[in-house]
Amino acid sequence: MRLLVANGYVIDPAQQVNAGKNLLIEDGRVIGLLDRSDPIPEDAELLDATGLIVAPGFVDLHVHLREPGQEYKETIATGAAAAVAGGWTSICAMPNTDPINDNPAVTRFIIEQGQAARLANVFPIGALTKRSEGRELAEMGEMKNAGIVAVSDDGRPVPSSGMMRRAMEYARGFDLTVVDHCQEPSLSAGGVMHEGRWSLILGLRGMPAAAEEVDAIRDCALAKLTGARVHLAHVSTRGALDAVRRAKDTGLNVSCEVAPHHWTLTDEAAAEYDTNTKMSPPLRSQDHVDAILEGMKDGTIDAIATDHAPHHADEKALEFDEAPFGITGLETAAGLAFELVHRGLIGLERVVEMCATNPARIFSLHDRGCLLPNAHADVTILDPQIEWVFDVKHSKSKSRNTPFHGRTMTGAAVATIVGGRLVYLHPDYTRINETRQHRASAK
Ligand SMILES: [Zn+2]
Repeated sequence: MRLLVANGYVIDPAQQVNAGKNLLIEDGRVIGLLDRSDPIPEDAELLDATGLIVAPGFVDLHVHLREPGQEYKETIATGAAAAVAGGWTSICAMPNTDPINDNPAVTRFIIEQGQAARLANVFPIGALTKRSEGRELAEMGEMKNAGIVAVSDDGRPVPSSGMMRRAMEYARGFDLTVVDHCQEPSLSAGGVMHEGRWSLILGLRGMPAAAEEVDAIRDCALAKLTGARVHLAHVSTRGALDAVRRAKDTGLNVSCEVAPHHWTLTDEAAAEYDTNTKMSPPLRSQDHVDAILEGMKDGTIDAIATDHAPHHADEKALEFDEAPFGITGLETAAGLAFELVHRGLIGLERVVEMCATNPARIFSLHDRGCLLPNAHADVTILDPQIEWVFDVKHSKSKSRNTPFHGRTMTGAAVATIVGGRLVYLHPDYTRINETRQHRASAK
């Protein structure tokens, strides 16, 4: 089975390609990029990408899929469906399921469910400590053999620096990246939003930016001490970004990701007590948002990750203090990234770098995040100009907790290819369809 993605504009930072090219795929792998003047291989099926961007498949380092244990919020299959609808060809699943992914049986279960769904590639992240309780190290070696791609106690940050040091040393032995949700619990305990002017006005308990900054600085110091590969999840503060910038300047193996809501919204969004503005880390004040935009521009921020965190409507209907943290994000991330491109803040190449090239490198996902010969044929096809309104009623996720319902966006993923198979086509999008039908009827 050969597939030619024809007439598109290929952006692949891994091979410094930024040009009109045809992409040839066979048996789930990339054959190569062809010049548009090259003859079209006769037996190839054609996907017309005229006017579209053809990028390596997007890799999301941070999703919560809720299976096993909370399938009423999301299953691996529904999460994977939301992923490909948002242009994500690979998603990395955090271990805070029920039971927690701290052993190879759970790891294998997640991988099997992902394969059965046949949509996005699903890569499990293993727990750092048993039951993510921060007391005893998890069996990282056994989980790595079963297929985990990183380790983390995301959502339950390791409180003890001594335990984090041992976890980093242990993870280093297995060549696993340690992902940390930076939040010093004794500073953030009881907080439901960013500590600042708005928490004061709204009478809600705040989480100070310093809670994130303290742990980010700690993790950078421990990366230096242990030589481990350390990745800071959903960085939301100026102080944490400064810590990452310094760590990189001194050659440490430290990387970080940012979630779209943290560059799109400020803590003022919580003014209506809408629980869809409650997440952890919380929405921050404008100065922190500005720091994130600077970090995206200057390369301090390596990756865009969604922190997709589905919750049932009944849970989010609770009062702000009681509602769970988190929002869905797989289907809105690309549109929100395009907002930055259209505002002239970053280029499209940088978006591809943060959504595909860098994430694949950070978790050592070999032969992904690029369109080099023999790479997995995971492809995200983008239309930078398509105007659309995000309607949560049409979301592929089981959950509806998003602050972006009704937002008009320009730019979206319109077709998603995983392992050489077209697994998603934008519903309003007919051009690719028509071409395919045209070709089929001509045969
Ligand atoms: Zn987290």
